Amino acid sequence: MAYGGRRNTAFNAFAAFYLASWENCHGVEWPDMSAAEAVMEARAAGIHLGVEGDDLVLEAAAAPPPAVLDQLSRLKPAIVLWLRPGADGWSVEDWHTFFDERAGIAEFDGRLPRDQAKARAFACCVPEWLNRNPVRSPPGHCLYCGVGDHAHNPLLPHGGESTGHAWLHSRCWSAWYARRRAEATSALAAMGIAAPANLPNDYGKNGSA
Ligand SMILES: [Zn+2]
Repeated sequence: MAYGGRRNTAFNAFAAFYLASWENCHGVEWPDMSAAEAVMEARAAGIHLGVEGDDLVLEAAAAPPPAVLDQLSRLKPAIVLWLRPGADGWSVEDWHTFFDERAGIAEFDGRLPRDQAKARAFACCVPEWLNRNPVRSPPGHCLYCGVGDHAHNPLLPHGGESTGHAWLHSRCWSAWYARRRAEATSALAAMGIAAPANLPNDYGKNGSA
């Protein structure tokens, strides 16, 4: 962990302590929300948290409370994973923020029961994940079955101009899209975001929160 920002020399004594206290950067299983809670408490204590590589960078105008620092130290690997942007540009925290906002809109503006609001929020996360993790393929072969163009089963481009196209037979699209949705669902689950177990995952698939 490194200290930045105001370069308060009072932090120098803490720095050595933190460098020695972190070991494991793996094995975090969401939803272990202790990292999220530690981040909230740190921000409430006036600490700005950033990530550089595997390091947590703290900025604050005054020396933070030792208990807050101790918690950041203990949970550093999980906090780094929570805050570090993924390949799609969003951190785990960003995904949870998106989910929570959608659930809140569905619950309070849409007046849905909590479980249905969460299901609706999850249904919004899936297309967002698909948009942020686009798949492209060269024309000439179907991305799903690998076979080329046929007059009776043409290859068609799917996706937007900005993200590029995936080429698929029209008959292969639905199976490919089901696989993509499963991929999104499992990526979201790995971040601790899932639809309530008692409701189908595709609840509200055709609606919007
Ligand atoms: Zn095909």
